[in-house]
Amino acid sequence: MATEIQNPNILVLATGGSIAQTSPDVPTLTGKSLLNAIPEFQNEAGIVVEQISQVSSPDVTADHWLVLARRINMAAVDDQIHGIVVTHGTDTLEETAFFLHLTVKSDKPVVVVGAMRRPYSLGADGAANLRDGIVLAGWPEARGRGVLVVLNSEIHSARDVSKTNCNLDAFKSPDFGILGQMVGGRPHFYRRVERRHTLGTAFPAALFRLPRVAIVYSHVGVTPDILGAVAASGYEGIVWAGTGSGSLPMAIRPAATGIVKSGLAFVRSSRVNCGHVKRNDEVDDDALGLITADSLNPQKARILLMLSLTQSRDPVKIQELFDTH
Ligand code: ASP
Repeated sequence: MATEIQNPNILVLATGGSIAQTSPDVPTLTGKSLLNAIPEFQNEAGIVVEQISQVSSPDVTADHWLVLARRINMAAVDDQIHGIVVTHGTDTLEETAFFLHLTVKSDKPVVVVGAMRRPYSLGADGAANLRDGIVLAGWPEARGRGVLVVLNSEIHSARDVSKTNCNLDAFKSPDFGILGQMVGGRPHFYRRVERRHTLGTAFPAALFRLPRVAIVYSHVGVTPDILGAVAASGYEGIVWAGTGSGSLPMAIRPAATGIVKSGLAFVRSSRVNCGHVKRNDEVDDDALGLITADSLNPQKARILLMLSLTQSRDPVKIQELFDTH
């Protein structure tokens, strides 16, 4: 059983979010003040806090991701830093965590935490989640598991976790479940992720631009003009958030085929937020040059497609990336 690192050095990167929000509109508390709310870490020399940004997470952009990934990859080669914690708003936490899961080039623990309640509200959860994140980031057994997300005492993989409601138990991994739990202030792990992550991904650490990829949400009566409008707006890929198993209505298929022929990547994902999108079942993906999202929800399929497009435009090669990450 792995024991704690004696006085690990942890880097906390604060980005904003409700965990730092004392007013309804914008986050105002600094990462340092979040740490001050945790008694056991008072005067803890080994915890360094940096304010990377101060935004609500709906306002996070790809530029924020690139800055965060570069800072973490710098920390990754610093022998004095044992683990990294990112404090983040919960609305897009799963997206930032997954982007880091695919681009951080280290097996050091990287743990993303947020809060479902603001700091001064009754039953606020931010300090407990941050505490858990810091303990986890210094825990030897947390190494090599990819980017982790911890809220509500549950340890999730960044690949599988999603915000599913607006309560304290908002974060779930609907397909495959949690990796472990925080019990008595210590992590207990029960499984590992199989898919490629961090050091094992096909994506370089040094990224300076991400291709633009849109998500189009299917619904009754969806018409193909939406695809044409997206294609005409300079996007390089489209993730189709299809009904059921990523279904593509007959009315959409000619436009989807045309878009692929014009050079855009087209990924079939599912709006039901869990389950595997079956290839060549309801539609001949091979014939149409479509990519299927495996078990990734649309917002995560978009991130993997953005990164895949930095490596190839070939739908066959991109499918290999979806089948292994
Ligand atoms: N709107 C907030 C955010 O995502 C919600 C939260 O942090 O819980 O930044």
